[in-house]
Amino acid sequence: MTVFKISNEPLDLLLKRRFTISRGSRDKVNNVLIRMEADEVTGIGEAAPNYRYNETQASATAFINKMDDYHAINPFDVDALVAYMAGLGSGEYAAKAGLEMALYDWIGKKLGLPLYKLLQAPGRTGPKTTFSIGIDKPEVIKDKVVEAGPFPLLKVKLGTGYDKEIITTIRALTDKPILVDANEGWTTVDHALAMIRFLDNQNVFMVEQPMPASCVNEMQELKLKSTIPLFADESMTGNESLLELSTQFHGINIKLMKTGAISTSLKILHQARKLGLQIMVGCMVESVIADTASALVALWADYADLDGHLLLTENPFNGLEVLPDGYVQLKNKPGLGLV
Ligand SMILES: [Mg+2]
Repeated sequence: MTVFKISNEPLDLLLKRRFTISRGSRDKVNNVLIRMEADEVTGIGEAAPNYRYNETQASATAFINKMDDYHAINPFDVDALVAYMAGLGSGEYAAKAGLEMALYDWIGKKLGLPLYKLLQAPGRTGPKTTFSIGIDKPEVIKDKVVEAGPFPLLKVKLGTGYDKEIITTIRALTDKPILVDANEGWTTVDHALAMIRFLDNQNVFMVEQPMPASCVNEMQELKLKSTIPLFADESMTGNESLLELSTQFHGINIKLMKTGAISTSLKILHQARKLGLQIMVGCMVESVIADTASALVALWADYADLDGHLLLTENPFNGLEVLPDGYVQLKNKPGLGLV
């Protein structure tokens, strides 16, 4: 029996710039830093609660506090922790993800193994990450495109009344490939299709969550007509039928804060592959802790959207690196490799 002492503290982080998507704006994030300690080894994790899923810093903290100490018959049994947390209550996937990544970090440190080796990943370098450009006035978007200079792929947030102007502003400055994320902002098939037709001539390689997650029939129609691959984000929280999702989308965006675990994310990833779905691994606005855990999952993915930590004024650790050509790389150090 191993008894883990679990502690947490607020991880309040400022954004370099106000970040706006179709649902709202934010200047800071209120995440939670988690430590799991046993045998003089400490695993680190992060919860990035999301109001889209009725989570806050307070609700995540309350869930983590329910854990008190964690008594593990086998401390290396990650599935046992996931099952135990499910028994403590529904929802609160950000808190669950933060706890599971802390246990994984502990296991890697205890064994002296980087997690990419422990999990037998194809390597320690994942796909190129996109860099996000939130919704803003065209003059501010120009500055953001300049700031995104080192990154080869842009992720552009749409879902406004001036979406075409945003794209035209960016295209006057760069021809970099663009991933568009409408964050459920287009509410009719006609409007979504008109936007996709416009974007098809603009070197846009993916459209993420064009319509609300509730628009299942509409998305099925849109998939049949779209000339750009469509990816599920808000429609894919981890509990849906992947077969059903494959009738609406060409790919899925897996995020730890939605699935609640690295282990669950990898299971979803491999099942989705069998159904022919393409895979992106994304993030919330989160620090390098959670982005590093996400980068671990991204080692098996086609696309990465792991710029959350790059949008912050500071990070509590060094972890995943974004190489000069945009590829994400994990450190060759035990656990998540946070230093
Ligand atoms: Mg998204």
